[in-house]
Amino acid sequence: MSNPCLKCPTDQSCCRDLRGLKVNEAEYTRLFEDKREHLTVSRKGKIFEISALGEFPCPNWDQQCQVYGRRPMDCDLYPYTMGNVFEGDGEVYATYHSRTGCPLTAQLLSPREKAEELIRNFLKDTYGEQCKITVRYDEGAARVYHLARRAASRARKLLIGETT
Ligand code: SF4
Ligand code: SF4
Repeated sequence: MSNPCLKCPTDQSCCRDLRGLKVNEAEYTRLFEDKREHLTVSRKGKIFEISALGEFPCPNWDQQCQVYGRRPMDCDLYPYTMGNVFEGDGEVYATYHSRTGCPLTAQLLSPREKAEELIRNFLKDTYGEQCKITVRYDEGAARVYHLARRAASRARKLLIGETT
């Protein structure tokens, strides 16, 4: 399986600077549990949130992802990423967004239907087939992010215009 991130202009920053990756227990046990000395791990319900400690990269990274074909769903989802996951009485509500800063977002972003299917399958594996699942794209926050980027870009152009 080819890895498009080998052409990453940021030298695979999302793997080298791992922050807040959401995994379920099976993924955690399979890919992270025996390497946890370089990680901080918090757990909310059935979801584990993983960050690398200090300067350490993801423990599955060594020049490239060493588990690419069996990486966690949240990595497969990139440059979308999981947002909040709320669990309640037989129901789960999850959001996702694309505010990841990935420079190849335009090339790598899959259609939302595909992203939502990935998330639904992940949530079914995590909470069981019977659980009622709702998945929503976090449009509002994404818009704020894009507006902020556009404003920053305009400000930069104005600044360049003023100083040249
Ligand atoms: S997902 Fe984006 S930021 Fe992360 S390694 Fe791939 S190209 Fe780079
Ligand atoms: S599991 Fe692989 S793709 Fe996911 S953060 Fe680690 S090195 Fe990157």
